[in-house]
Amino acid sequence: MTTQQATQILDGNKTAKLLKEEIKTEVQKLKAEGKKTPHLAAILVGSNGASMTYVNAKEKDCHEVGFDSTVLRFHETMTEVELLNEVEKINNNPDIDGLIVQLPLPKHINEKKITETISWKKDVDGFHPMNVGLMFKGLPCFLPATPFGIIKMIEHYQIETTGKHCVILGRSDIVGKPMSALMLQKNCTVTVCHSKTKSLEKFTRDADIIIAALGIPQFLKANMVKEGAVVIDVGITRVDDPSNPKGYVLKGDVAYDEVAPKCSYITPVPGGVGPMTRLGLMLNTLNGVKNRY
Ligand code: NAP
Repeated sequence: MTTQQATQILDGNKTAKLLKEEIKTEVQKLKAEGKKTPHLAAILVGSNGASMTYVNAKEKDCHEVGFDSTVLRFHETMTEVELLNEVEKINNNPDIDGLIVQLPLPKHINEKKITETISWKKDVDGFHPMNVGLMFKGLPCFLPATPFGIIKMIEHYQIETTGKHCVILGRSDIVGKPMSALMLQKNCTVTVCHSKTKSLEKFTRDADIIIAALGIPQFLKANMVKEGAVVIDVGITRVDDPSNPKGYVLKGDVAYDEVAPKCSYITPVPGGVGPMTRLGLMLNTLNGVKNRY
């Protein structure tokens, strides 16, 4: 007779809260030693609702852990040259340790040009090619916040990775690709699937760990997952729901209700990867300051 283990929820809110307390203690230590208070700056162009929410959340996180925080808000008619100048000013400001430019930017501004203008030494989003290269080499660098947060979650719950087959769904520059590098460093055998992958379920059914980052609500179904798998759901999509006061609900890439009973561990949406992404950004900013000393 086999006894089935209960599914454990990977609680991003609880984990991020605990780890934020650790960051707060480190900031207090830096201050007590007369060292620099970490300072994160964010640039927001335009009035995209989701972007405003993200920037406000990052500002709140900074206050909670004791960082200094600056948010520069600009009208959506701002030109690319004006934005490049603002980025350069922050690159040259020794008091600011990390800079994020909230994406998406208005269509007339080239996002690649902007993110590559941010000094790689302040690139706490980990998007600059210099940081990408260092990450793939396993050298100290700023890691992209979402994969970094997921690694912290895996470590916090002491999930075994060595020798495990990790299947990543999605190959974006901000999630899928960096995630594959970090899981390789965790001694996983890594498979990366994308829109051109044939018989994708053949890979997911063999996976010990699945990280879903496609942006397709409820994509991963129970018949695509083996018993006891660890499932990490990165997806967040707003799905219309007139019965909800907001008019939408947030859905992940995993059909949670049917997949969860088969898993050893699973992240909920919301409350899983999202809070850990915000934590990743705070950790990068702190590490940036610590590495200076
Ligand atoms: P993205 O840039 O749109 O990339 C999606 C990836 O999924 C692409 O590599 C694409 O393949 C692949 N894909 C699309 N349809 C597929 C299919 N039918 N089968 C297999 N692969 C398929 O997305 P992203 O920026 O990585 O984000 C993914 C999701 O995570 C989104 O819902 C986003 O909102 C969410 N997200 C959440 C957080 C968080 O903090 N929780 C952070 C970042 C992103 P191709 O490359 O072949 O096109």
